[in-house]
Amino acid sequence: MGYAACRPSRVKAVSNIAQIDGQGTQLGAASTIVQVEPMTTARVLRGPFDYRLPEELRDGVDVGSMLVVPFAGRKLLGVVVGMPDTSDVAEEKLLAPLRALDDGPPALTTELVALAEWIAAEYCSTIARALTLVLPPGAARRLSGRKRRQVARPRHEPVGARSPHAPALTHDQQAALAPVTAALRARRAKQLLLNGVTGSGKTEVYLRAAQVALEQGRGVIVLVPEIALTPQIVSRFVERFGETVAVLHSRLSTGQRYAEWRRLRDGQARVCVGPRSAVFAPIEDLGLIVLDEEHDASYKHEGDPRYDARDVAAERARRCHAVLLAGSATPRPESVQRMPACVLSQRVDGRPLPEVQVLDMRGHAHGLHPLTGDALAELRACGRSGTPAKAIVLLNRRGWSNFLSCRSCGRVWRCPDCDVALVLHRAGGFVACHHCGHRERVPTCCGDCASSSVARHGAGTERLQHDLARVLDDDGGFPVFRLDADVSAAATVLRRFEAASCGVLIGTQMVAKGHDFPDVSLAVVLDADATLRFPDFRAEERTFALIAQLAGRAGRGGHGRVLVQTIAPDARAIVHAARHDSDGFIAGELKRRRALSYPPFSHLIRIVCSAEAAEKARAAAGSVRELLGEHLTGVGQDARVLGPAALFRLRARERSVVVVKAGERRAAVRAVGEVVRRVAATRTHAGVSFSVDVDPQ
Ligand SMILES: [Zn+2]
Ligand SMILES: [Zn+2]
Repeated sequence: MGYAACRPSRVKAVSNIAQIDGQGTQLGAASTIVQVEPMTTARVLRGPFDYRLPEELRDGVDVGSMLVVPFAGRKLLGVVVGMPDTSDVAEEKLLAPLRALDDGPPALTTELVALAEWIAAEYCSTIARALTLVLPPGAARRLSGRKRRQVARPRHEPVGARSPHAPALTHDQQAALAPVTAALRARRAKQLLLNGVTGSGKTEVYLRAAQVALEQGRGVIVLVPEIALTPQIVSRFVERFGETVAVLHSRLSTGQRYAEWRRLRDGQARVCVGPRSAVFAPIEDLGLIVLDEEHDASYKHEGDPRYDARDVAAERARRCHAVLLAGSATPRPESVQRMPACVLSQRVDGRPLPEVQVLDMRGHAHGLHPLTGDALAELRACGRSGTPAKAIVLLNRRGWSNFLSCRSCGRVWRCPDCDVALVLHRAGGFVACHHCGHRERVPTCCGDCASSSVARHGAGTERLQHDLARVLDDDGGFPVFRLDADVSAAATVLRRFEAASCGVLIGTQMVAKGHDFPDVSLAVVLDADATLRFPDFRAEERTFALIAQLAGRAGRGGHGRVLVQTIAPDARAIVHAARHDSDGFIAGELKRRRALSYPPFSHLIRIVCSAEAAEKARAAAGSVRELLGEHLTGVGQDARVLGPAALFRLRARERSVVVVKAGERRAAVRAVGEVVRRVAATRTHAGVSFSVDVDPQ
C-alpha cells in the first residue's frame, strides 16, 4: 500500500491495485469513464483518477456525484469531477467504483465542483481538501453505507430589536439599493460595498435586495461573522422570509446541518444564512451574496485550504452572474479600493453618532480612568432609579491575569510547547496557553525555588468582571455580564443582557460585533492600543475597526457616550475612530500601504516551515527562499521574498517564515506551490512541515 502516495507525479488507479484488494468489478465492453477525486488529505496525491462506471451506475452518476471507490487497497469516498470520453489508461485496466452514495441527482452542483477546483489553485491546496468544503455535512461518515437518520430542523430564536414589517426606506437606503436592484435585474455579476455607519439600516438594504433576488426565482446567501453573536440578522431574515431561510452553523449537530443543507439542495429553502462556510451553500441559480460586517477577521479560514470567504464569495458571485453586496461601518481598505461603494452616512433614527472621548492613561497605573469610574457610577445610579441604563465595556484580553511570576526568583510560568506565558483562569482553577490550549493547575509554589509567593500581572475580562461586580453590583441590582471565548453560551449571555433593565456587558472583541441593543448609552474601550502593538500591517486597521464598532453599539435608542482609554491617544487609528472618520482613516491607510506595497497593492503569501529543531526549520525556510529566487523570476519584476524570520515556538514546533510579496497572485501561488513541493520532497528536510497562507489575515 502507499502505492500512489509515494509518487509525486500523476498516477492512475489501475488494475494492479484492484488485485491487491480484490474489490475490482468486472465490466462489460461498453462503459463510461469518470474522473474521480478521492477524498484523501495526502498532499502528494495528484488526482483526479480515472474509473469506469459499471452498468448499474451509469444512470444518475454525473459531475458532482459521490462514489465509494477502491483506491490503493482502501475504500475511499470520491467525487466525480469529470466525464471524459477517453482515458490514458486502457479501459480494461481501470477500476470500477463500488457504489454511488446519492440516490437522485449528484450531491454537488458542477458550479460547486468548479469552485472547489478554483479554491485549490488559489490557496495552494489540493482539490480533495477543497472538495471537503463543499460536500454535504457528514458525507465522510457515510462510507460505511449507514443511512442518515431523520433529524428535526433546528429552530432559531429571535434576539434584539425586531420589526416584523418592512419599514419604509430612507432616502439613503433607496439610493444604496438602486444599483443592487439594477444589477440583479440585468443578471449581471457586480460587487458593491455598502459603507454605512452603525445603525444606518444596512440590514434593511440586504433584506430588500434579497427580496428582489427571490422574486426573480434566484437564491441568496447571507454571510455573517458568527451566528451566536449575530442572532439579530438571522431573526430578521427568518421573520421576513420564513421557511425559505436555512441556517447553517457549527453549533448544529451534523444531522441538523444536513437537514438544512438538504432543504437548500432540494430548493425548498432559497436563502442561506451562516458564517464563512455558508459561502458553499448548495444553492442553484444564485442571485445575491450578502457579506455582512465584511471587515471581520472570522471570514478567513485557518485550516487547509486557508480560504478567505470574502474572496470565495466574490468568485462565486462572478461565476453565477450574481451580486456581491458587502457591508460594514468599517470596511477594509482592500474593499474600498476594489469595489464601488454606496454610502449610508446617517443613522436611520436620525440620531447623531455618540460623542467619543479619548482618555489618556499615561500616568495612570492601570484599571479605570477616573472619568470611566464616574460614568459607570452615574449609570448605576440611573439604573437604580428605574431608568434603563446599560453599558458595554471592551477589554480584548480574556482570563484573570496575563501571566504569573515568582516573587523571589522571577520565574515566569510558560507553556511547555509554545514560547508564551500561561494565562490565569481563576474560576476554572487553571493556567492556560492561549495558542495551543495547554492547561495546568494554578501553581501554589515555584517549581524552581519553592517560594509560595506568586505574583499575578495584568487583568483580563474574568478579573474585570469580578472587580466591576464588586463595585457596581454589591446588592445584586446592577448585573455584570461577561462575553468572551471562555463563555460557552454566548447567545444566552446576550439574551440575558437584553432582558435586564440595567447592567454592564464586558468582554473581548466579541462585544463589538453587530449587536443592536437600543438601551446601551455608554461604551468603554479599555487598553485601546493593545491591538496596535501587534507586529502586523493590519494592526491599525483592526484597532480602528474595534473602536469604531464598539462606539456604534452606544446611543442606538437615544444619547450615547463612548470612552476610549489608551496610552497612545495620538495614534492615527484612535484619533480617526474618535471622530467617526472612516474615510479619513482609510485614505491615510491606503496611502501608507501603497508606499510600502502592502495589500491591496500587492498580495502576500506566507510560507511557514516548522520542525522540532530550530535549525531544521531555518534550513528549510532557507531552501524555500533560495528556490523562490529562481521560480519567481517569471512572476513579475515586483515579486519580492522577505525572510526567513523566526516565529515563536508553537505546539512544540520551532518555526521559520518566508513571505512573498507579489502583484501577480495566481502566478506567485503557482511558483510557491512548486517550490514547497520540491523542498518538501528533499530528504534533508524530512520532518519539516510546510504551511502556505495566501493573503494571510
Ligand atoms: Zn521561584
Ligand atoms: Zn502552548
